[in-house]
Amino acid sequence: MKETIGTTGLILNEPLLWEKGCNGRIGYSLPRQDVPSQPLNAEWVCDGPDFPDLSEVDVVRHYTRLSQWNYGVDSGMYPLGSCTMKYNPKTNERQAALPGFTGAHPLLPEDLCQGTLELLYDLQQYLAEITGMDAVSLQPAAGAQGEFTRMLLIHAFHKSKGNPRSKILVPDTAHGTNPASAALCGYRSVAVKSGAEGVLTPETVAQLMDEETAGIMITNPNTLGLFERHVKEIAAIVHGKGGLVYCDGANMNALMGIVDMAAIGIDVLHLNLHKTFSTPHGGGGPGCGPVCVREHLEPFLPIPRIIQKNGKFSLSEDFPESIGRLHAFFGNVGVMIKAFSYILSMGPDHLKKASQLAVLNANYVNTDFRGAI
Ligand SMILES: *Cc1c(COP(=O)(O)O)cnc(C)c1O
Repeated sequence: MKETIGTTGLILNEPLLWEKGCNGRIGYSLPRQDVPSQPLNAEWVCDGPDFPDLSEVDVVRHYTRLSQWNYGVDSGMYPLGSCTMKYNPKTNERQAALPGFTGAHPLLPEDLCQGTLELLYDLQQYLAEITGMDAVSLQPAAGAQGEFTRMLLIHAFHKSKGNPRSKILVPDTAHGTNPASAALCGYRSVAVKSGAEGVLTPETVAQLMDEETAGIMITNPNTLGLFERHVKEIAAIVHGKGGLVYCDGANMNALMGIVDMAAIGIDVLHLNLHKTFSTPHGGGGPGCGPVCVREHLEPFLPIPRIIQKNGKFSLSEDFPESIGRLHAFFGNVGVMIKAFSYILSMGPDHLKKASQLAVLNANYVNTDFRGAI
């Protein structure tokens, strides 16, 4: 056989099985016969579909090749540009695949899913601790739904004070979902230009902020990968006019264990568990966008909420000021389990280290890139 160097490697495409098949080939082997032969009843014999005849090795290779077309952590990194992606350890997938979790139906009575409810309750506490916020809802099924939820919370808060307000400040570096979420909620977005250094300046915000403005949406670090250094002053300006500060936390992978969001004046924040807390997300797929709020927004969180009474966990709808339900059940619980497993396996020190390394890597790429031009 003639071979040309460089053309004998992995071949990912194969002809159709019909082209490969050859009459009389058999793709299975049965154990040796240990009972007497019986003639087939003629009624049972019928023409089946026109499947090709293939040998066993053809069948094995065909299905193995198909299985390798699945993209996974064993075949490469997960690419996704705008948010901070990282290595998603396989152990988290394993924990989420435990039969006790995968077999739990959303309509299971509470007595039969105490373990799952406890895990979700604890995850809320961990996320509150990591962000510095007071209360968390895990329900939004993605970052964008988390944003929409937060807009509803802001709207409910202002409405409870007598005026829902009509505008919201959105920096020019914001993710496209930010103004979209605001518009869905009936707010008009007012663009805020970033300063010469690529970050927001308190002066620009002060010029635009007024008492018809519900608040500001800040992404930190912003979409240019820069840390918004003036959030504290900006928050003071927005709060001074009765507005709320909303942080898009999609880039939280740079801040875990380093920045206390409540301390810099954030009232409400969303996380993307599928970005910061270990769920493969490169090609889409299920997500989870928890909202984390300060005390004054807690009464408005979506229902049902997980409550704990005398050591028993249950889902409660008894929150009269709530913005209501976001969907039929409780969100993408598999993603929440992966985040829980990730947080426990990392521990506080390593979550902080993951952030420090993420920042170091981003700056390395930045410096290298600038060196190249
Ligand atoms: C990814 C992202 C979102 C939207 O989150 P989804 O989970 O994709 O809906 C919002 N803001 C920023 C900055 C993001 O990177």
